[in-house]
Amino acid sequence: MIYLDYQATTPIAPEVAKAMHPWIEEKFANPHSPSRWGHEADAAIEVARKQVEKAIGVKGGAVAFTGSATEALNWALKGTVEKAPKGRNRIITLATEHAAVLDTCEWLAGRGIDLTVLPVQPNGRLDLELLQRELDDRVLLVTVMMVNNEIGVTQPITDIARRAHEVGAVMLCDAVQGFGRMEISNDPDLIAVSAHKIHGPKGIGALWMRKGKEPAPVIHGGGQEQGLRSGTLSPALCVGFGAAAKLADERCTRDYDHVRKLWKAAVHALGPGWVINGCTECRYPGNLNIRREGVDAARLIADLRDIAFSLGSACASGSGRPSHVLRALGLDYRQTRSSIRLGFGRYTTQQELVDACHRIARAAVEQEKLDA
Ligand code: PLP
Repeated sequence: MIYLDYQATTPIAPEVAKAMHPWIEEKFANPHSPSRWGHEADAAIEVARKQVEKAIGVKGGAVAFTGSATEALNWALKGTVEKAPKGRNRIITLATEHAAVLDTCEWLAGRGIDLTVLPVQPNGRLDLELLQRELDDRVLLVTVMMVNNEIGVTQPITDIARRAHEVGAVMLCDAVQGFGRMEISNDPDLIAVSAHKIHGPKGIGALWMRKGKEPAPVIHGGGQEQGLRSGTLSPALCVGFGAAAKLADERCTRDYDHVRKLWKAAVHALGPGWVINGCTECRYPGNLNIRREGVDAARLIADLRDIAFSLGSACASGSGRPSHVLRALGLDYRQTRSSIRLGFGRYTTQQELVDACHRIARAAVEQEKLDA
């Protein structure tokens, strides 16, 4: 199989698997228990926490581990609303956000939050003037993602956070697709990340919180994470996340250069007839979302079973609904159905990517011939 679905998830790094192994096999103590073994597990978790914080690279706050980035985003949104000062009842977000943000915002809107979902420009970027016009002292929270999971387009997070702060709002950034791959802006108050997008294990994420901006708890119980989030932590998952974060931090530039070369090679190998969805400059280059007039993308995926690529987000692929992100760029229904996402990264070789692109291009031409 040629794996080109790096936005859905990434292969576990060998270093990560090795670091996790003892915590799965022998070291099973509860990290919150006072025994010597408990302390040992707790110490390993604290090392991992520091590794994740260093890789996030933003000063003035701390990380709490969660079960996923979805949980971190739910917590950030619901917990900030829970603590909202009187008179602040508005949330502003973008039409191209991940379902973990959009669906949570909609849920909050059903409970009285005044929600504004801003459109994006045809290249996928937010128009800052549009945001500026919406900002006032009733805004509680502005939530915008760093790198889009479907089209790879980046948003001007520093400018957005500064403008949000000018009216006293909290800025939440879903950095899941940017973390470990590009530098994170220093300015958000809350940052959600996930281990499995950086060659770590599934089932663990984190919320970085600026001191004083911590959301109210939404998961109650033993208060294991600084009294803010309850549930016994998994030392294996935390250690794996820490090892993945350390590796990503050390290899960030090397991985990025590799991915940039892959992007150029892929665009060249696909040849003419393809249109790139989203801004070609403001992006993470490990994501190539493309469309071709008349192609049935679902059929293309079915025809090329040994290449793992997708229609858009893993969540949207199963639903049969057209991608809300591509629709937000102004693509019509037919164009969304002719779009595919190729995602590549650290362990993708240029040869396999080029081979896959040649085969995808050939299969698309075959479809055209059959349909002619
Ligand atoms: N946000 C973005 C941009 C994502 O791509 C994803 C995962 O696909 C998530 C949030 C949710 O992350 P998790 O799988 O850790 O819940």
